[in-house]
Amino acid sequence: MVKYIIETKDITKYYDNFRAVNSINLKVPENSAYGILGPNGAGKSTLISMLCTIFSPTQGTAIVNGYDIVKEPHNVRKSIGIVFQSRALDDILTGREHLEMHAALYGVKKDIRQDAINDILDLINLKDKIDEKVKNYSGGMKRKLEIGRGLIHRPKVLFLDEPTLGLDVPTRENIWSYIKNLKNTTDITILLTTHYLEEADGLCDEIAIIDQGEIVKSDSPSNLKNELKIDTIILKSLENNKLKDILQNQDFVNELKYDGSEIRLSVDKGAKLIPKIVHIAETNNINVDSIELKQPSLEEVFIKYTGYKINK
Ligand code: ADP
Repeated sequence: MVKYIIETKDITKYYDNFRAVNSINLKVPENSAYGILGPNGAGKSTLISMLCTIFSPTQGTAIVNGYDIVKEPHNVRKSIGIVFQSRALDDILTGREHLEMHAALYGVKKDIRQDAINDILDLINLKDKIDEKVKNYSGGMKRKLEIGRGLIHRPKVLFLDEPTLGLDVPTRENIWSYIKNLKNTTDITILLTTHYLEEADGLCDEIAIIDQGEIVKSDSPSNLKNELKIDTIILKSLENNKLKDILQNQDFVNELKYDGSEIRLSVDKGAKLIPKIVHIAETNNINVDSIELKQPSLEEVFIKYTGYKINK
């Protein structure tokens, strides 16, 4: 049975009369990477700030690692690590000093503190720079240190608010592989917010799409894409014309487009249909030169549930 490490119960937040988060119910499976995907202003930071006990909900509550965020905030705080966008590092301290300070702050006992720091050093791959002042770090190194710092007290849940915001593409990819490694080598649950579709798609086992304070859909990225039922199969053959006429009449083809060089079929479950299409061509003595499957992207999923593009 799936164990949920976070469960929100109609969690709601008003800023004066403005409702930023509206009665959200979501369940985050233990040991998963869970993404809250939405554009700026959707309510992502407000939602995770409540889960981290930074803000109190106006209504509703949530259970994090078995503790109620309203009634047992202290125990919640001990269970979680937080990496927020605004959490600046101190330029004049070294990486190691940051880790040591954070370990002390989070009550990591002195006798295990060094081991805890060494574990993080293994994970963040910053060993050769760890005794240098942070002002000499690149953006990516700083972000890794921040994430490592959030892990020092061995939390059950790590909250990452827009973990790659403002980083260039290679650095972003580097942070992604770091988070993947974290996911694969520890039993931590990661809850991250993002407005990057590739980030949600590549990192998360499950995502919840948030729009104007409400979760409009949640599932694994692959289920969300498969549900759209809009795979495209692209075919090329020397006998395109003949093949097109045969495929036109097949029940499984929702739409067929032909531009003179390739045939594009819109179908429900493309992967399953490829052998069938090849078979149909063979029985009609047609040689298929190439066949390619294109599945919908998370962008199309997002548009379906919100009606607009995430990065307008
Ligand atoms: P996101 O993290 O998805 O960008 P936020 O949770 O930061 O969204 O904001 C959700 C909405 O709440 C936005 O419309 C934002 O302007 C508003 N908001 C956020 N913080 C405050 C605040 N402290 N006071 C008033 N409104 C706020």
